[in-house]
Amino acid sequence: MRGCAFHQFSPSVLLTTLLTLCSFAFADTAVERVGWPEVTYDPAVPTLESVLGYAPGEQITSIEQAHAYLHALSEAQPARTRLIEYARSWEGRPLVYFLIGNELTMSRLDEVKAGMQALADPADLSGSEIDALVAELPAIVWLAYGVHGNEISSTDAGLQTAYHLLAAMGEPFDTIGDNTLVAIDPSQNPDGRMRFVNHFRETYGIEPSVSAIAAERREPWPAGRTNHYLFDLNRDWLPLTQPEVIGRVKTFQEYFPLVHVDIHEMGTDSSYFFPPPAQPFNPHYVDAQQEMLDAYGRNNAKWFDRFGFEYFTQAVYDAYYPGYGDSWPAFHGSVGMTFEMASARGMAGERRNGEIVTYADGVQRHFVTSIGTVETASVNRESFLRNFVEYRRSADAGEHGGAREYLIPLTGDRSAVHKLAANLVRHGIEIRRTTETARACDVELPVGSYLVTSRQPAGRMVRTFLETESPMAEEFLSEQERRRSLGLRAELYDILGWSLPSLYNVDVVPCDRVSVGEERFEGDNIPVYEPPAASQLGWLVPWGSQAAGRFLAAAQRAGLQVQGADEVMTLANRRYDRGTLVVRLADNPEYDAGELHRVVSQLAEVSGAEVVATDTSYSEEGVSFGSRSVMALPAPRIALAWDDPTVSYSAGNTRFVLERQFAYPVEPVRVEHIASDELDRFDVLILPDGGNYANGLGARGVERLKNWVERGGVLVAMSGGMRFAASDAVGLLPTDLELLAGGKEANDDEGDVVGGTILVDQDAYQQAILPEAPRPDSLPGVLLRTKTTQDTWLSAGVTDGVAFMVEGRDVYRPLTLDEGWNALYFEASENLGAGGHLWAENRQQWAFKPAVVQANYGDGLVIGFVADPTFRAALDGANVVFLNAVLRGPGHTARVR
Ligand SMILES: [Zn+2]
Repeated sequence: MRGCAFHQFSPSVLLTTLLTLCSFAFADTAVERVGWPEVTYDPAVPTLESVLGYAPGEQITSIEQAHAYLHALSEAQPARTRLIEYARSWEGRPLVYFLIGNELTMSRLDEVKAGMQALADPADLSGSEIDALVAELPAIVWLAYGVHGNEISSTDAGLQTAYHLLAAMGEPFDTIGDNTLVAIDPSQNPDGRMRFVNHFRETYGIEPSVSAIAAERREPWPAGRTNHYLFDLNRDWLPLTQPEVIGRVKTFQEYFPLVHVDIHEMGTDSSYFFPPPAQPFNPHYVDAQQEMLDAYGRNNAKWFDRFGFEYFTQAVYDAYYPGYGDSWPAFHGSVGMTFEMASARGMAGERRNGEIVTYADGVQRHFVTSIGTVETASVNRESFLRNFVEYRRSADAGEHGGAREYLIPLTGDRSAVHKLAANLVRHGIEIRRTTETARACDVELPVGSYLVTSRQPAGRMVRTFLETESPMAEEFLSEQERRRSLGLRAELYDILGWSLPSLYNVDVVPCDRVSVGEERFEGDNIPVYEPPAASQLGWLVPWGSQAAGRFLAAAQRAGLQVQGADEVMTLANRRYDRGTLVVRLADNPEYDAGELHRVVSQLAEVSGAEVVATDTSYSEEGVSFGSRSVMALPAPRIALAWDDPTVSYSAGNTRFVLERQFAYPVEPVRVEHIASDELDRFDVLILPDGGNYANGLGARGVERLKNWVERGGVLVAMSGGMRFAASDAVGLLPTDLELLAGGKEANDDEGDVVGGTILVDQDAYQQAILPEAPRPDSLPGVLLRTKTTQDTWLSAGVTDGVAFMVEGRDVYRPLTLDEGWNALYFEASENLGAGGHLWAENRQQWAFKPAVVQANYGDGLVIGFVADPTFRAALDGANVVFLNAVLRGPGHTARVR
């Protein structure tokens, strides 16, 4: 034990004694416990220990404990604080933020919010009104902890930050209070944190196990990083699918904080990261934002240097993808930051060099950067407020360039069009809707089409969300090409493509001039279809939309007999494309015509699907209802492979898509139990992305699975799952992975010597060091466009152009005609990209390669998705194919039911 150091392993009685003996003053060069040097504390503010019974850093605080402490602080300081719930997690836990300001600020909180909202739209203000608001408004600082639930130390750092902002006397605290309004979100992911905390408490003994393989520090599947549906909430700021993030985005727009900090942990062997971030930057950052990031970084560095803490900046964590907690706020004119601390992943962890990282180390460092951030915002309050105003003014004035308008015609999947518009409204983007038909920039705009101008305060967000590309800096790209030529990994942190129109498969057309009757769209009055008319025969539901998918799922779940037409029909002069659903009275004899009409009407209302009554089954062109191409679609019972070796994101996101976007139940089954006879209860088994399924299943499991498919099961295998199904040892899918086209051939030379060569120049040397038989270079997450094969039910309802998010290097050869179908395949190289930078040789090799394949196996069916159609639950376009696979697949097997 070092001097007066806080010792987190001691029983609290001993600890109290030690703290009493030790002075609260610290050497300038080191802070050895969680606290700030040379300050005194107001005894009227309760300490963590007085409320929870342990000192900061001594225990990993649960969500309930954190909330209890914040309650105690707010009871002790009611005039300076406010504790507000902003969302509920899937498991029912409240998400809160704790506001701290001086009494004046807190007494006029509504005025402060209104002031920031007014500054956010500066075109409506005069210069003197802006000056007055800038003079009086506090700098609002948002400190958001623990978005990844197993990055644990940040929550306790948040509690210490709250305590110090209320209790500490001395610098820098004395000057912070009057300039700032600080919000502390103690845990952005309470479900994930509690998954970690419960696991840790279950495995903890009498003292910390510091080994990297200690049970308490190695979580079982799924780790606490993700929320209930296993989403990475720090990627959801763009698709906005999870309640935790939806609540945060809404709250952000109440306050428009000047800075939003997202506080994390990284590997135990690392040190500490704070901004400035690494390259590449999203091109819509402005210089003033980079300067502010630099100012925050310099101040945090000042404190870290003073305390002797190691750190790094400008590496690893970039600022390119706009859907992080540290990037999204930038597109509203604030700045966002990520802080990362080496994780103890428990109470203490041993680094490879023998050093011990403690939980208290993490709490202390995150606490110091939290205070350093508040101090920077306080000192620069006025200039940062003016930067915020200028960002929004310049966007509103269109100084970022780009098209003036983005047109979203109400065509194709109309439910996806509405969803895109509603999503943009949630992001704080102003949307208008047309009230008359019009034509602009060669596009027909039916009534109810949407218009999004880039000439608005969030105009740069409009551009990065709606444009296909957000280009990276040329010099950054050429450096990456140089690295790749040397066989080094490209320095990219996350996906490169995120264009919302590509994700949703919605047409968005840039246009500089449009003149049409219009109204403001607020996001809440999305039109629903007319209720269907009565019929004595049945109803048709055109396929290919999210809404029709919800209708099929709801109808199957309600026990209706639904048929699906695999061919085009023309009834009463209307053409119905492949995939149309048919609900016939004759197939549902337990209902009379009136009852069935009522049921179908209810399903139309809940799903938003267009449902058309028909009094004839005579098809003027194409198939009639009695055709073999009109197949019964019985309600499938769906199992989803769960637990190791599945990738938790893929398993969780897939479950979410079925359960929450299409309201269809799915039963997760641990991979080790797939060998059970219980498998026969299921019609569909989904293998999400995963590692070594062959090991996870074992030889018996693989045989059992193959036998189940052979007898009529439908196997839907995605990315890693497809790799397993297509492997030679398993042989469920007749395709093969490709090597890099034009790569160096394998040298079949055996033995210890090779023939002599003369390397005449540098180029020859570079050739000589290339690896043999290389795989294609990995894609970091790029949207690739596909084409459909028009002759398979698996692509029914899909218009050309639906995009998939492709990660990795799994290029497959197309299936031959005798092997099966390439239901969707990637576009020609010139049309391939739908968002994100593509290396040239990837662009060539991925063209015309399969994206979704199907092959019969015995009486069953194997469907392979090269890339997850459920990626982050954001690929609404690809979901239509996914629904075809899981909800229609069983209707297309030879299984006897
Ligand atoms: Zn993290």
